[in-house]
Amino acid sequence: MKNYPAEPYRIKVVETPNVLNKEERYAAIKAAGYNTFQLKSEDCYIDLLTDSGTNAMSDRQWAGLMIGDEAYAGSRNWLHLEATIKEYYGFKHVTPTHQGRGAENLLSKLLITPGTYVPGNMYFTTTRYHQEANGATFRDIIIDEAHDPDIDLPFKGNVDLKKLQALIDEVGAEKIPYVCLAVTVNMAGGQPVSMANMRAVRALCDKYGLKIFYDCTRCVENAYFIKMREEGYANKTIKEIVLEMFSYSDGATMSGKKDGLVNIGGFLAMNDDDLYTKSREMVVVFEGMPSYGGMTGRDMEAFAIGIKESIMFEYIQHRVEQVAYLGDKLIDAGVPIVKPIGGHGVFLDARHFLPHIPQEKLPAQSLAAHLYMESGVRSMERGVVSAGRDTKTGKNHMPKLETVRLTIPRRVYTYAHMDVTADSIINLYKNRDKIRGLKFVYEPPMLRFFNARFDYCD
Ligand SMILES: *Cc1c(COP(=O)(O)O)cnc(C)c1O
Repeated sequence: MKNYPAEPYRIKVVETPNVLNKEERYAAIKAAGYNTFQLKSEDCYIDLLTDSGTNAMSDRQWAGLMIGDEAYAGSRNWLHLEATIKEYYGFKHVTPTHQGRGAENLLSKLLITPGTYVPGNMYFTTTRYHQEANGATFRDIIIDEAHDPDIDLPFKGNVDLKKLQALIDEVGAEKIPYVCLAVTVNMAGGQPVSMANMRAVRALCDKYGLKIFYDCTRCVENAYFIKMREEGYANKTIKEIVLEMFSYSDGATMSGKKDGLVNIGGFLAMNDDDLYTKSREMVVVFEGMPSYGGMTGRDMEAFAIGIKESIMFEYIQHRVEQVAYLGDKLIDAGVPIVKPIGGHGVFLDARHFLPHIPQEKLPAQSLAAHLYMESGVRSMERGVVSAGRDTKTGKNHMPKLETVRLTIPRRVYTYAHMDVTADSIINLYKNRDKIRGLKFVYEPPMLRFFNARFDYCD
């Protein structure tokens, strides 16, 4: 068996989870309309709904909370955070926001005009929402292989340059406000983008004067994959790799709730002076002063410390390898998952897990509900329900990837928790014939997966 690194932390504070019995779990998921987003956290034993804002902070970050400067303007914690982002991510300017989607809102409002196109390496829910709400059409330019859960490639998040070129030829560069590049690609299963691909996207965009903004929510995980998999990077530090990645962009939107190792926070970063001035004007309307953007002083302090901790090799190695440990156990037991295993979670391939349930009957949604019933492990649907409807035709998007995401919070769970999770999934897989499909009984008009309710269809 492969070697997995031990936890690079000692546990100083513990939280005791509730363990419900089977009847209680069945009642809880029914009351939640078979939507794991609607479960109470207290009713979950191992909560793998998301790695967003669920990070465990270090003792240093908690100490940082005590030196929060809650001044309305010019907080010293902001100055610390701003300097840290400039040093570690290499951008010239930073505008803080309450979380990632706050930055997406600002960027989309500032750069998008109706009738334009924003290409991206696979969509992300909130990102595409803001692009479309401002009148753009999203175009997927990720390599075809990213949509196939069985193809094992080291950099499955890469952009297909031919697709980007084809869009430029079709609509013209002036109709493309910017290219959105996610590192890593959440919806593809946490798949990384290679440095060579980032360089090539930059070169193509430079030919046409196109801007590139990264969705850099999981940039440190992406950097770890580059170090482990890409030729020429084995001896570079994570910090050097992150800086080189951003050198090929014009700016980035960041959710600190992921690789920032905090529970809330985000920012929009850029090199352009004029765009910075405009973002400062706009942030006061939607988020708050340009010296806090919706965050408290103490949160900004923890965020600055989190960014520094996140690029430590021992931290990121354990983070990614712990995810691999869970995935490897499932692969060994023959459970179908998206390959290769991504940076922040394991994605069950619901199409192959439940071949008897057609996509219209929401197999991934049903699988997530049944995993909770089986063991109290909370996961999330990432399939037809998350993909939503086409804004023009009103038809359901039918994504090729119909998955259940098991997202691992950072520094929260141990390998033993991964064992419990793997065992319950393997058990469910053995009894998969008993699982039935679901239908909507309430469907919200936008970002429907959060609040939707379901019931069995037969
Ligand atoms: C979480 C996430 C966002 C949005 O960030 P929030 O902090 O949740 O608003 C954007 N893009 C990706 C890839 C994400 O994972």
